[in-house]
Amino acid sequence: MFIGEQGKFEEIREGVRKLCSDFGSQYWQRCDRERAYPEEFVYALTQSGYLAALIPEQYGGVGLSIEAAGVILEEIHHSGGNAGACHAQMYTMGTILRHGSDEQKARYLPAIADGSIRLQAFGVSEPESGTDTSSLRTTATLKDGLYTINGQKIWTSRAEHTDLMLLLCRTTPINQVKKKSDGLSVFLVDLRTIPEHHLQVRPIRTMMNHATTEIFFDNMPIPGDALIGDEGEGFRHILSGMNAERILIAAECIGDAKWFIDKAVSYANSRAVFGRPIGQNQGIQFPIARAYAGMRAAELMLKEASLRYDSGENPGEEANLAKLLAADASWQAAEACLQTHGGFGFAEEFDVERKYRETRLYQVAPISTNLILSYLAEHVLGMPRSY
Ligand SMILES: Cc1cc2nc3c(=O)[nH]c(=O)nc-3n(C[C@H](O)[C@H](O)[C@H](O)COP(=O)(O)OP(=O)(O)OC[C@H]3O[C@@H](n4cnc5c(N)ncnc54)[C@H](O)[C@@H]3O)c2cc1C
Repeated sequence: MFIGEQGKFEEIREGVRKLCSDFGSQYWQRCDRERAYPEEFVYALTQSGYLAALIPEQYGGVGLSIEAAGVILEEIHHSGGNAGACHAQMYTMGTILRHGSDEQKARYLPAIADGSIRLQAFGVSEPESGTDTSSLRTTATLKDGLYTINGQKIWTSRAEHTDLMLLLCRTTPINQVKKKSDGLSVFLVDLRTIPEHHLQVRPIRTMMNHATTEIFFDNMPIPGDALIGDEGEGFRHILSGMNAERILIAAECIGDAKWFIDKAVSYANSRAVFGRPIGQNQGIQFPIARAYAGMRAAELMLKEASLRYDSGENPGEEANLAKLLAADASWQAAEACLQTHGGFGFAEEFDVERKYRETRLYQVAPISTNLILSYLAEHVLGMPRSY
């Protein structure tokens, strides 16, 4: 809790905790074991309105700040759950709210807010381009008012559980643009209207339950009005969404860190070996205390990034710092928690191994730690570009 903020968002925190209490350990263990989509949880979150936190009230949402949205995700993770099943609905909002037309917002946002359709997929990564987003190869070609999409995406999470997908494609060939990041465009694709033979979705089984897929586009037609913002400006349009994504993922990491720390402290106090609680040993205490310090520092940076984002800025530095520090804090807390649990940390019923696998993702996605460090070195500290 920050000074002077007692009670801020307490109603949201309590409401989310209450909702999450219906989805306990066994629910998440079963979903993880079966690699099942947590449909009931996503439904409950949608019905409660929490998933529509960032949709403005005029479109049927709750119109909350990104700071408040982060609190929702943090509480889900702090409760032992995983918002990875549905968080894209929040972080794609930045691009749509800031760059979508009034007509696009009016067409989709009320239905997303009331849960009749879902926006859960964000198609950026490709097998060949990797982290080097601006060299992506999926193309969108405009003819007679229709764009035709060809190419492939990978790691498009939740594609099987969504109606809409935000998709980044190249609209001007790379050899005809000044900068590599020019000539990309972002589309809001209504997957319900796409005939099967134009689009293939293949699930990828991963080390944690994340419903991720690879997608193949074969002459896939989409209407011209699926374009968000200006043609060729897609890279810049998704940047505000990416900052939102980093802030929201940082909030999930803070929730994970809090879960690991609570769990570690409770086990350290109750497990007795050599006739005394293991938590009496500084070898057990110190890694947990250090993880707590890391979590609190990351939480401050998250706050700074959220406030800047909510004031209309595009806070690249703070969003990246928050993601880096929070992902490190959750990983440090995960390590401390697993070690504190000894052998029991590896048993499914303790949830530690599941959360450990889940939080490991955030060292790599949505942006890897190395790439954040490169960003800071180049854009914040003014050192030469390394790639
Ligand atoms: C479970 C899961 C879900 C995902 N969901 C989505 C999604 O919904 N939508 C989406 O678009 N993407 C998604 N991703 C993709 C994710 O954003 C990428 O995996 C991530 O950005 C890293 O890209 P890459 O895997 O291609 O790694 P690569 O770019 O191949 O990099 C491999 C390693 O090399 C390092 N590296 C590369 N270049 C440099 C450099 N110049 N300097 C230093 N180190 C470097 C990277 O940091 C990384 O550690 C998901 C990934 C996973 C695993």
